[in-house]
Amino acid sequence: MTRVFSGIQPTGHLTLGNYLGAMRRWAEVDQHRADSLFCVVDLHALTVDHDPARVRRLSRQTATLLLASGLDPEVCTVFLQSHVDEHTRLSYLLECVAADGEVRRMIQYKEKAAKERQRGGSVRLSLLTYPVLMAADILAYGTDEVPVGEDQAQHVELARDLAARFNQRYGHTFVVPRSTLPQVAARVMNLQDPTRKMGKSEDSGAGVVYLLDEPDVVRKKVLRAVTDSGREVVYDRAERPGVANLLDILAACTGGNPESLADVYDSYGSLKKDTAEAVVEVLRPVQARHRELCADPVYVEGVLRDGAEKARALARPTVDTAYRAIGLLPPV
Ligand code: ATP
Ligand code: MG
Repeated sequence: MTRVFSGIQPTGHLTLGNYLGAMRRWAEVDQHRADSLFCVVDLHALTVDHDPARVRRLSRQTATLLLASGLDPEVCTVFLQSHVDEHTRLSYLLECVAADGEVRRMIQYKEKAAKERQRGGSVRLSLLTYPVLMAADILAYGTDEVPVGEDQAQHVELARDLAARFNQRYGHTFVVPRSTLPQVAARVMNLQDPTRKMGKSEDSGAGVVYLLDEPDVVRKKVLRAVTDSGREVVYDRAERPGVANLLDILAACTGGNPESLADVYDSYGSLKKDTAEAVVEVLRPVQARHRELCADPVYVEGVLRDGAEKARALARPTVDTAYRAIGLLPPV
């Protein structure tokens, strides 16, 4: 059976980008067709300036929202990265296989490092090694497919390279994974700046729709989305990024196609109105289930405990094999 692994960082409140680009597919498709693991990658949240209490809160909230989005612990494994030591054990071995130059050229590293410097802070070494830990997250489970948004495709490529290199140097140990991207909304853009990805660790929430935003807040954000001075509704991501983003979001929420939807609308106003309602409808069941789950924290804790146990059992043999293959003696 195909093995699927993917993760999400507790760096902020989850966004519509996270949902349309990743989570929705995990719940609707991946968990039913593959042996799949979904992980709140909390160690990755420590790679930038963070408040410990907030990370704890967001880890719980992110796990709860994963379940609210439809992940069923009866058919998939949901857990916290820091509960399974194999991730960091393997990460070190992969650091011994990765070259510093190949991680320095990762786009996310460049962008997030620039942001940290702009804020006057220093860049944590873990921000540089982040994609190596992410490779360990993936490779520890013999993962075939990693369903992610477009922004993570480069990191999955690195995981592929590291797996292939390790196998070549030290003997076959890892499955070489590949990323899978959604057909629409692989990169949901910020509503206030459609040249930038919608991200959960943005400073200002005006251009970001959060999964837990009230319907009226969603409507306001979508209606105020920056478009351009044109009037015609056309799907052109390069020239009309704002309108294209709305069409992508509408298409992803209604199951349509952004190009054909462009023909249906003759004004930005009606496009925005329908997009806002479509988003509200997509979020409604997730929010309702989230409210129920918040009333039952013991259930969520149980899911995470069982998930970590299953994940540990799956990861340990592969990571142990890697330890032996690279030249380390088994403990006596
Ligand atoms: P951060 O700003 O802290 O990096 P993020 O919103 O990028 O947060 P991640 O936890 O890094 O979220 O990524 C979780 C998943 O969501 C990944 O699969 C990523 O590709 C996907 N994703 C994130 N943002 C978007 C987006 N704007 N459009 C589509 N997919 C997205
Ligand atoms: Mg990200």
